[in-house]
Amino acid sequence: MNDIILNSLSYGMFAIGVKDGKKTSACIANTVMQVSRMPNIIAVSLNHDNYSCECIRKNGLFSVSVLSEDTSGTVIGALGFSSGRDTDKLRNIRHRILAEGVPVLKEQTCCWFLCKVLASSETASHTVFMAEVIAGSEKSVGKPMTYEYYHRVIKGRAPKNAPTYREEKQNETQQGGENWICTVCGFIYNDPFVPFEELPDDWICPICGAPKSAFQRQ
Ligand code: FE
Repeated sequence: MNDIILNSLSYGMFAIGVKDGKKTSACIANTVMQVSRMPNIIAVSLNHDNYSCECIRKNGLFSVSVLSEDTSGTVIGALGFSSGRDTDKLRNIRHRILAEGVPVLKEQTCCWFLCKVLASSETASHTVFMAEVIAGSEKSVGKPMTYEYYHRVIKGRAPKNAPTYREEKQNETQQGGENWICTVCGFIYNDPFVPFEELPDDWICPICGAPKSAFQRQ
């Protein structure tokens, strides 16, 4: 079987909010799905090594903020490409802390819900949590971002520890400009009108905020 056929599966884009004592953090996941109704139960898959996964295992609670097409790439980059173990990933992101101590985003997200873990299942690399939705917003606003939209419009990439990560083809986004790749998140800069060298020194990666020096010519 060619793994590529799995690329035809569709996903959304979500921020998973967690707590660790009084500390809060969040990560990005595309693997959230509803598995039953009454009670409403969802499943999410997270890499074992993720700090967020560790927090959920410890506390049995997490939130899901559904990203909208208006959620900026930098929010996804800030939450998706670094570890909350040593950084405060939420420091520049508008959010609020629920009474249960878990954060939810206020950055153009459609809605949020709070989940209580019922069971978990392990694979070699990931933990799948099944959780009951115990609270949430009254309504959903805006258009939910799909994983396909994230790749096609925002030009985002999946980090290597995502369940759906695939090696990208080197010249995939060649459009006439020279390709410069962000070594942090994999974003490819190739604007044919503004060569990479002419970008100002304080220019940063639009996805993960890495400095210009983090880019390498492909
Ligand atoms: Fe980047």
